[in-house]
Amino acid sequence: MKTAPGRVSLVGAGPGDPELLTLKAIRAIRAATVLLVDDLVGDGVLRFARRSARVVHVGKRGGCASTPQAFIEKLMAAEALKGERVVRLKGGDPFVFGRGGEEAEHLREQGIEVDVINGITAGLAAATSLGVPLTHRAHAHGVMLVTGHARAGEAPLHWPTLAAAAAQGLTLAVYMGVASVRELQEGLLAALPPATPVAVVQHASLPTQRHAVGTLGTLAELVQEHGLASPAIIVIGDVLRGLAQVASSSVRAELVEAPTRTSRALRQAQGERFSGSA
Ligand code: SAH
Repeated sequence: MKTAPGRVSLVGAGPGDPELLTLKAIRAIRAATVLLVDDLVGDGVLRFARRSARVVHVGKRGGCASTPQAFIEKLMAAEALKGERVVRLKGGDPFVFGRGGEEAEHLREQGIEVDVINGITAGLAAATSLGVPLTHRAHAHGVMLVTGHARAGEAPLHWPTLAAAAAQGLTLAVYMGVASVRELQEGLLAALPPATPVAVVQHASLPTQRHAVGTLGTLAELVQEHGLASPAIIVIGDVLRGLAQVASSSVRAELVEAPTRTSRALRQAQGERFSGSA
């Protein structure tokens, strides 16, 4: 089915688990005749697409270089102008480190209508997969979603400044931070104590999810020791306090190997941590 020319939906596919898709996202995926899919979009999400839909993977699958952004934008516009119902499927939320802003601007400049459908962003899913809230009245007044990866030619974030803000009681959720984990750790230690709890969650919400919990003082070692790699979120802050206590006790290995089951010790620790602070 073709629609009036010139319309693209930027759709958040969430962190991977298809059950975390919104109803709006499913409806848009079902209606699409052309889907341009990022590599972080789980295969489970694509089962909602029509058999007849043209699915174009535009990520780095199979170790190939990722499709240049300009090509993706051109292709989207060309298909929309042909009257195809175009869905641009992005991991997490299209407007959180997803280049959704750039793509929407580019399309609108050409008179193409754009609608955006939110998805659950990875930082949120990563924390929730550990049973941890990103904010908590007793531990964090807010949360900062930041990227550990600077654009080519741009200065990276000034971690000591961020640490000073985090020390005011803000949780940090770092996207794309694993590759620069040492710089991040060193910079944050300028204003945060080494005992600050951290968690690294790879493949949040997927059956392949793995994670490790520790402290800022040993963050880089934690990543290395557990072989954690992209895509991963690093969560930093006191909201993790109960988990960090558990991690330093005997159930640490269980936490890492059975990530999707919340261990009893973990639940107990969380119960203690959150009791009386409703
Ligand atoms: N728009 C996406 C983020 C894209 S940037 C969102 O809202 O989630 C890509 C980064 O997101 C990855 O490098 C990683 O840091 C994070 N990420 C995406 N999916 C993830 C997942 N399932 N588990 C952990 N991190 C993930």
